Amino acid sequence: MRLVVAAICSTIVLIGCSEVAQTAPSESERSSRSDTVVTRASKAIEIVRQSADALGGAVRLREVQSIAFGFEGEAFFPYQGPTPLEPGLFNYTERNIIDVAGARLRVVNGFTGEQTAFTRTIDIDGADAAMLPELARQLRQSPHAILHAWLQDPKRLALTDETNSHHVIAGAFYGELIHVYINRETKHVDRVVMPFSDVRYGDTESVIEFSEYAENSGWTAPGRFRVVDAGAEIFNLPYNDYTLELDDLEAAFAPVERSQRTQATENSETEPLERPGPDTYEHRDYGDGVRALFNSGGPDYHSLAVALDDGVIVIETPGSLDNGRRLRERASALGEVRYVSASHHHGDHAGAVAGVVIPDAALIVADNHRAFFEDAVTAPRMLHPGGHQPLTSPAIESVPPRGERAFGDRLVIYDAGPSGHVEAHLVFYAPGPRILFQSDMAVFRWDGSVEPARDQACRLRAFIEERSLAVDTIIGGHGRPGDVADLDRAIELREAPCPA
Ligand SMILES: [Zn+2]
Repeated sequence: MRLVVAAICSTIVLIGCSEVAQTAPSESERSSRSDTVVTRASKAIEIVRQSADALGGAVRLREVQSIAFGFEGEAFFPYQGPTPLEPGLFNYTERNIIDVAGARLRVVNGFTGEQTAFTRTIDIDGADAAMLPELARQLRQSPHAILHAWLQDPKRLALTDETNSHHVIAGAFYGELIHVYINRETKHVDRVVMPFSDVRYGDTESVIEFSEYAENSGWTAPGRFRVVDAGAEIFNLPYNDYTLELDDLEAAFAPVERSQRTQATENSETEPLERPGPDTYEHRDYGDGVRALFNSGGPDYHSLAVALDDGVIVIETPGSLDNGRRLRERASALGEVRYVSASHHHGDHAGAVAGVVIPDAALIVADNHRAFFEDAVTAPRMLHPGGHQPLTSPAIESVPPRGERAFGDRLVIYDAGPSGHVEAHLVFYAPGPRILFQSDMAVFRWDGSVEPARDQACRLRAFIEERSLAVDTIIGGHGRPGDVADLDRAIELREAPCPA
């Protein structure tokens, strides 16, 4: 209102205008100004309280000390399947225990079923700012956890939209901005939307939908939830546990007994190697200009750099954008980075590619992975705190199925797939030092033992034969460097012989 008056005054220069402009705001002016911020916040908190009442009581929920929930069943993890377009299908299990007062979270998750069965326990300290995104990601799986947090801090909420069916409330949740869709009729939390950075498509969103609300020990709780990241469904599962106020919270946080790795020590014939610490970036040189770069994507995710005639190639890009930038710097010690490659498209081998590739470097990938990597290096990533300039016209070369690309006598890149793990699977051979770099085909453990061979290890052994490669050292994207004897030992440990 005042702005309008001032604008008129300055254009037509009416005497007395300055007086009008400086009078105290009128009643209608005050309300129109408060409309912009306060009304949105107060409407939002009113809707959130109504929702909390519908889920068991706002006053009670605000005082809740602990929340636990779990689920188990089929999960479709993107970029973990045999090709970039098929998700990896896993039988996944997860349980979250939240100690609200102590600001800590315990997550027990893992895979059930055949060869890959394992679970792990992760304790997250809510006081650690670096853990906030992980807390937000986990806790948004419970509408009670969201409303609980929001009831503590109503000033961080705003009503951003009203649809025919939902109120849309935006608010801070452990450092993330989430949008919550509250059903106008039932007042249930139906949907939660959070910004999400996808390995392939960059800036996008992750959506959770809650359904099958029912009475649950005096509360109203969802019976099922569905997670959709970048448009792809990850889970659609019933909760197998959804509890507010655990009877014995201390027991739920009891220290975990680490299981003995019996299998690991049983076959430790090779001398153990000292495992490079997870926070150090050690490397090992193999002759002239061939360098293993350990922990490039986090603990036990490794890369290789090879100096070619016209620059350096970085092989394997695990981790995040920041991991990628650091990896490029480390590889630059051998010369200018001109090529970047990755064995396959799985997130733990390709996640850092956008951070490694620069406009002057060419990407060399399997034919089958070309579109995936092209998307990954051109995708917008504004959500990254440090900013990121995606490539506009990346130089990409691809290795045909079962084909190869040679760089003089320095390096040959082969597609050794299908491997049983993925359809196209690149391996890298440096003839000088007789080094073969591979990922996810064989894993040799740092304690000297080997992981029993899966079909992909059989494929690696057959490939070395087929190509008559002289190999002194096998370096892996995971685990310690080993040799062909390690690979043979892994194959001996198989229950069934290698497929013909
Ligand atoms: Zn893989």
